[in-house]
Amino acid sequence: MNNKQKEELIKLGPDRILFNCSMKKHTTFHVGGPAEAVYAAHNLDELRRLTAYLIKEGIPYLAAGRGSNLLVRDGGLEGVVILLRGELADFRKGNNQTIAAGAGGTIAGLLDFCRKSGLGGLEFLAGIPGTVGGAVMMNAGAFGKETGSRIRKIGVITPRDGFITKAGSELVFSYRKLKLENGSVIINACFNMEQESKDFVAERIKKYLKKKKKSQPLEYPSAGSVFMNPPNDYAGRLIEKTGLKGKRIGGAMISNKHANFIVNTGSARAEDIIALMRIVRDSVKKETGIDLQTEIQIAGF
Ligand SMILES: Cc1cc2nc3c(=O)[nH]c(=O)nc-3n(C[C@H](O)[C@H](O)[C@H](O)COP(=O)(O)OP(=O)(O)OC[C@H]3O[C@@H](n4cnc5c(N)ncnc54)[C@H](O)[C@@H]3O)c2cc1C
Repeated sequence: MNNKQKEELIKLGPDRILFNCSMKKHTTFHVGGPAEAVYAAHNLDELRRLTAYLIKEGIPYLAAGRGSNLLVRDGGLEGVVILLRGELADFRKGNNQTIAAGAGGTIAGLLDFCRKSGLGGLEFLAGIPGTVGGAVMMNAGAFGKETGSRIRKIGVITPRDGFITKAGSELVFSYRKLKLENGSVIINACFNMEQESKDFVAERIKKYLKKKKKSQPLEYPSAGSVFMNPPNDYAGRLIEKTGLKGKRIGGAMISNKHANFIVNTGSARAEDIIALMRIVRDSVKKETGIDLQTEIQIAGF
């Protein structure tokens, strides 16, 4: 970005933009270099103006939630990281047992809203530390259930069409993926829910949280599962077979509790994590013939 472009971005939202902003505090791995800028948009108009400007100027941008599936390289990120706040992070009850959720709202907040409204169906997301936008984009799932199966419609800004609404039936979800035009920013999602008692929803959230805490190393920063499960198998099981649990490079370590988690023991750099990922992929390939595919999103240089 040149100085003129920076000035224009400041004009768009003087109290919304920060320059040279460390991505350590915007990712759950707590690693990574600085983003050239981070812009926290608070409503749709602001976001429309911002994305239109970035697209017109050819400035790269990345919509981010809590960065809980994101590894930013140590050199940082070119362009603007877009965060959704304010009314872009709200939850509302809709007609016919639906919830309209701003993409910037956290999953924890969404589940709290579900509990208070006695609306069930998304409890399986308990313990996933992301946002609604990240959960939709990644088709986040657990215990055999996926976010995509609950979507009635989403609101999204795409570079080609601007702000549009897409019905769930038009969306192509697959394992940890939603197919959208590159550069799309999800604004909100409307979920199909079921009327339940508040206690029932609360109990189910508790049950799923308990299971999560038992199997995941939540005491260390991480980005959850690093690799996708191959068909009919588990990446964690394959990694465990290679004997790599506990292996360290710098401050990064393959978790002893869950072999598909790489954790930051305190001073990890992105390059330590990437080096461990390479070792895991090579070892699993050698031992089992299976090519593991990366689930976490790697950005930056
Ligand atoms: C301890 C732990 C446990 C986890 N457990 C699970 C689990 O059980 N199941 C599971 O599926 N995942 C799990 N994850 C991974 C992660 O939490 C999910 O993928 C989550 O949905 C990511 O949400 P986020 O808001 O943090 O997205 P980010 O990490 O910020 O972004 C992820 C991707 O989505 C894109 N994105 C984010 N928001 C938007 C938006 N508004 N519009 C367009 N694109 C967007 C980003 O550009 C990026 O490509 C876990 C992570 C951790 C740290």
